[in-house]
Amino acid sequence: MKIRSVLLLLIISTLSFCLTGCFKWAARAKNKLPKETALHKTYNYDGKIIIVGAGASGLAAAKVLEQNNIDYLILEATNRYGGRLKKDTTLADFPVDIGAEWLHSAPITLNKLKGKLGKEIDEELIPYHLDSTASWDGKEYKVDPHWQNNFMYNFLPESKFKNSTWYDFINENIAKNVKHKIQFNSPVNAIDYSGNNVIVKTTNGKTYEANRVLVTVSIGVLKSNMITFTPKMNEEKKKAIETITFLPGFKVAMNFSEKFYPDAITCKVENGEKGFYDIAFKKDSQSNVLGFLCTGNETQKYYNLKSEQEIISSLLEELDEMFDGKASTFYSGEYILENWGQYEYTQGTWTQAINEKRSNLKVINQPLGNKIYFAGEIYDTYQQMGVPGAILSGYYAIDKLLTDK
Ligand SMILES: Cc1cc2nc3c(=O)[nH]c(=O)nc-3n(C[C@H](O)[C@H](O)[C@H](O)COP(=O)(O)OP(=O)(O)OC[C@H]3O[C@@H](n4cnc5c(N)ncnc54)[C@H](O)[C@@H]3O)c2cc1C
Repeated sequence: MKIRSVLLLLIISTLSFCLTGCFKWAARAKNKLPKETALHKTYNYDGKIIIVGAGASGLAAAKVLEQNNIDYLILEATNRYGGRLKKDTTLADFPVDIGAEWLHSAPITLNKLKGKLGKEIDEELIPYHLDSTASWDGKEYKVDPHWQNNFMYNFLPESKFKNSTWYDFINENIAKNVKHKIQFNSPVNAIDYSGNNVIVKTTNGKTYEANRVLVTVSIGVLKSNMITFTPKMNEEKKKAIETITFLPGFKVAMNFSEKFYPDAITCKVENGEKGFYDIAFKKDSQSNVLGFLCTGNETQKYYNLKSEQEIISSLLEELDEMFDGKASTFYSGEYILENWGQYEYTQGTWTQAINEKRSNLKVINQPLGNKIYFAGEIYDTYQQMGVPGAILSGYYAIDKLLTDK
């Protein structure tokens, strides 16, 4: 009787995984991609446009404006472009993604993002089909069965760039042609769209004017009310923004003299994600770089520590428990920690539109008075998530901005 119930439970959970996880995955994959994007259209617009934010979505929108010789300017709060795309070339013998890292969508999506026709992709990708994984609940370290890795890859066939990064992708295919239009160190704090033109102000006291504005800051920045809108956003839109989950979190990359860990270790947490993974997985590399990603409530435990060094020590302690002291023995002393959750101009990690209410997504997508438009990962209408979602939302929103009456 007991065995039959266990079997039944197994069948039900496999089916429900297929119906939710797998179908959701399929839905946001290839068949949801647009046939064409704004990159393949031509526009006649003789007004001026300001883009707020030089992340993936803002840069993508700018690429369309550049192609059509439209007057525009990008106001970026920080001294760099890319937003949550960033790479490091100091820690390892290959470039390390310290923001977005995986391509969750089908490889062909890369062509769509850069406006290339055809099926052949230029990028060399690593299929993220793991060989060795384990789980850790804080006490017990358990090696996962092999079938689990095969199963995961078949349902969630992700990939990673082999010799480059997401940052390189955006740099080479999008930012290259638009970066001369970025005004760095220009945090926008006020947007007034009450008159004929839109007035945009930055914290350094500068004022800019445009016919229409595309806001591409993260949902965390919008939630923080860093930017004042005049007239105010309506309550419905404000509430919809508030409901979007944008968890705090951070990413670490640590260098070791030997690889003592498996491809990935999933740690048990209440909400969000926590895990260690081999960043050098199938890269052309002699470096041993272990990544650590933490989002959600567990993040606070680390934020309560006083310094980055204490966070690293705490991670080494946890790894030492799993691997009998090997982490401390092989640690080279070199690490990178990117605290996206506490950066003023990010204030979180990522959103997952597929987990949000459609009605809220519809509301946050609406422009303000046909003058202020929004783009970014959460505004993606093609259910691709992450970087592809952000780039596609940039194309979608700029098309709307240029064609709305
Ligand atoms: C640790 C981590 C891991 C991730 N992993 C993946 C992954 O593996 N795969 C994937 O596809 N996605 C991943 N993501 C998500 C991915 O990075 C984002 O979806 C994508 O980069 C978002 O782009 P965006 O243009 O919407 O926003 P952002 O990248 O946040 O860009 C917004 C820009 O606006 C600027 N800005 C903010 N406020 C202001 C202001 N007031 N005035 C002017 N400028 C302002 C910011 O500085 C930034 O440059 C990850 C994210 C993080 C943090």
